[in-house]
Amino acid sequence: MNLVKKAIPIIAGPCAFESEAQMLALAKELRQLPGLCALRAGVWKPRTLPSAFEGYGAEALKTLTEIQNTYDIPTAVEVGLVEQVDACAAQGIKILWLGARSVCAPELVEALFKRISEKIPDAQVIIKNPYANDFKLWEGAVRRAIKWGIVPDLCFRGVKTGTSVFRNAPLWNWVEDMKKLFPQCKMYLDPSHLYGSREIIRAQAPHFKNLGLFDGYIIECHAEPELAKTDAGQQLTPAELLDLVKVLNDKDSIGTQAVQELQTLRSQIDEIDTQLLRLLGERQKVSQAVAHNKERSGKAIYDKQRYFDVLRSRLAQGLNFGLSTSFVESLFTRIHDESVAKQFGEMLSRKPLRINKELCDEKNTQVQRV
Ligand code: PEP
Ligand code: MN
Repeated sequence: MNLVKKAIPIIAGPCAFESEAQMLALAKELRQLPGLCALRAGVWKPRTLPSAFEGYGAEALKTLTEIQNTYDIPTAVEVGLVEQVDACAAQGIKILWLGARSVCAPELVEALFKRISEKIPDAQVIIKNPYANDFKLWEGAVRRAIKWGIVPDLCFRGVKTGTSVFRNAPLWNWVEDMKKLFPQCKMYLDPSHLYGSREIIRAQAPHFKNLGLFDGYIIECHAEPELAKTDAGQQLTPAELLDLVKVLNDKDSIGTQAVQELQTLRSQIDEIDTQLLRLLGERQKVSQAVAHNKERSGKAIYDKQRYFDVLRSRLAQGLNFGLSTSFVESLFTRIHDESVAKQFGEMLSRKPLRINKELCDEKNTQVQRV
């Protein structure tokens, strides 16, 4: 392996602080990690449900201070309230990040930066992208930081689009656009919250590294991830993290521009396919509602005229989108067949047995189009 001289910066640590023993042991283990520049740990965890583990709060900061003093490793926490900034100031914690939920609330963002600029003027501030699919929230948060005299680092952790194959969607164009808007800011990637699974993070490592977009990484790490109180599926063990860091630092695997471009394009294809499938699922639900309607009005399932009308209009629309007639015809014939079959299935499942036979006859005769 051909390791680059200066290792890429890594901020690593558990999703949440769980105990003093956990953090001290992890600090001891990770201090040798190439590029380790800080140890992260969530001590205040913003959770959707109040019954979920919300972190041990300010009490946990004492251990982080101890780690800074004993191992000379800076520690980083998420702040989501101004009182939390005060607690960090009191304990000498100087790396603070704003999480994906907080960045969705501009007034909170404003208040946090004001307080950070007053209480910890030399803080390193990292702004994650909002989980909401609204790029302007991220841009706005950075503009607010700059307004308060803070030059923040940025961190991309994926966007909740509801259609991604991953925990969050890898909208790399957000990263590219932010780098253009704020070239003075370092850009981190948080593959943990982006991909949401330890296996996927490890498999995707050459890909996100070859994108060549990131100045460093923020990665969740836990000695026994399956026992973690939060995000158990996505935290890497220290050994897995070391393997990943080797991949990130292996300059032999730095791809050419063409390789990088191919990977970016493929991830766009993955996103589009996911959306196609979601839409097909929605179409199927509407088609089921059509089946109920036909049943109520006593109409036949297969409507030849409707089939030809649909096909004619889709062929014309397809041409406008640059799609060939033969492709659109076979695609919509297949979609239509599936729809008819599902409608029959739905109707048969709800009809008394004695008329099932009539319906089967109807299906067998009428579904043959020509
Ligand atoms: C975290 O880093 O622990 C976290 C909660 O991340 P995000 O705000 O990106 O969800
Ligand atoms: Mn987490």
